[in-house]
Amino acid sequence: MTETFRNYIDGEWVSGPTFENRNPANTDEVVGLFVKGSASDIQSAAGAAARALSAWSAMPAPARGNLLFKVAEILERGFDQIAAEMTREEGKTLPESKGEVRRSINIFRYFGGEGSRLPGLLVPSERERVHMFAIRKSIGVIGLVTPWNFPSAIPSWKMAPALVCGNTIIVKPASVAPLSAWRIVEACHQAGIPKGVVNFVAGSGGELGRALVEAPPLKAISFTGSCDVGRWLHTEASKRSLRIQLEMGGKNPTIVLADADFNSAVENTVNAAFFSTGQKCTATSRVIVEEPIYDKFVAALVERTKKLKVGNGMEPGIDIGPAVDEGQLETNLKYIDIGRKEAGAPRVGGNRLTGKDFDKGYFIEPTIFADVTPAMTIAREEIFGPVLAVMRAKNFDDAMQIANDIPFGLSASIQTSNISRAFEFVNRMEAGLLTVNLPSAGVEYQLPFGGTKDSSFGSKEQGPAALEFYSDYKTVYLKY
Ligand code: NAP
Repeated sequence: MTETFRNYIDGEWVSGPTFENRNPANTDEVVGLFVKGSASDIQSAAGAAARALSAWSAMPAPARGNLLFKVAEILERGFDQIAAEMTREEGKTLPESKGEVRRSINIFRYFGGEGSRLPGLLVPSERERVHMFAIRKSIGVIGLVTPWNFPSAIPSWKMAPALVCGNTIIVKPASVAPLSAWRIVEACHQAGIPKGVVNFVAGSGGELGRALVEAPPLKAISFTGSCDVGRWLHTEASKRSLRIQLEMGGKNPTIVLADADFNSAVENTVNAAFFSTGQKCTATSRVIVEEPIYDKFVAALVERTKKLKVGNGMEPGIDIGPAVDEGQLETNLKYIDIGRKEAGAPRVGGNRLTGKDFDKGYFIEPTIFADVTPAMTIAREEIFGPVLAVMRAKNFDDAMQIANDIPFGLSASIQTSNISRAFEFVNRMEAGLLTVNLPSAGVEYQLPFGGTKDSSFGSKEQGPAALEFYSDYKTVYLKY
């Protein structure tokens, strides 16, 4: 029998009408039924979070940190099940899911440790016998709205810093993959986090998003998702002067210079473009290759891509799972059609995979278009699927110009053995996350995460920077 996962409000599991969470690799399988929350559930959750705030924020921060350590332990105990569920609801391969659950556990441990640090500021005063310092305080009730592509890590990197700073929260997960976030909320419940501190309401983004942004107790929203929704939330949140943090789309470049280690540049590009079905916000969707190696690089990229195995991510040896749902599959196919008109036939891929088990899921071939020029739609718009545009650059400066000629600024990579070029790239690249001789995707939790330009708004997530969004300073001047 299919399990029903209820919403979590004020420490209670709340029932109601449900919606289905289906496996994108096998749409015959219903992974779970989720209670479809309403605007009034958001109001109840916001009320509960407001009531829980004063006791939770008054709890010593190390004690809050200890509860986060417990959450990590509980997730660790359920590791294999949680990873398998993630593959079944999102489609990424099992090793990718295991990597993500490991990351969520690490995030809870990292921010658990922040409970015994929560660094403030202590500086000397200009005045005699004045002691001055600034301490961190919670900001209040916070709404956390998350996407489906990292259904565990993104809720974790919002929930853990929000909680350790003493805030109370309402989590709204993506409707196509809510189970991974639900497991974290379940772990918070089992860890003994007091009622009302963590609330979870699944359901339609449009309805719940409006209710959240209008909920009187709300003080801040942290959102990860598409630019359109982010911009709407920003407008609405600004009307109430809510604090807001937005992490949105990208069109991330990898620059490959002629002096790069050729084989690792090919490997890094394929990894960044196609793994997780190209559904990482930091995925490479444009590879900009220096003229002298262009033809050889395109040929090697195509050969390597032909070896990738697409299929159900639960099976061993699979490199690429399905698109997350029918809508994303259609978006990928729409852009492939546009690409055919703009750049000619793809050098590899370009089709939905059909026949046998493929018919049950949203599988698509990893696809490469060559000779893409900067004005083409497939070089400018986010696709969020396994579709790569290869672009030719005359030299390093030309490559930098092409890479920066885009409204997005999430991640970017360069492949080069020239240290000066690497540092020039670091200085001149307009993006928040940079890699050198690594894939553009694949970041760790100990440093700030987030983009620039149209990709992001507000302060960074993860690492010590996360505390800036989730806390306020209280500054004290004391004469003794
Ligand atoms: P999305 O459609 O914007 O959805 C994100 C979340 O917002 C979901 O929980 C969604 O709920 C909710 N939502 C929808 N309409 C809303 C509204 N009017 N008000 C408030 N919330 C609303 O994005 P997605 O398709 O899940 O994710 C893909 C996008 O996320 C891509 O653009 C990708 O680049 C971006 N992303 C960015 C980062 C980053 O760190 N920069 C990381 C990951 C993903 P429903 O699911 O119920 O619609």
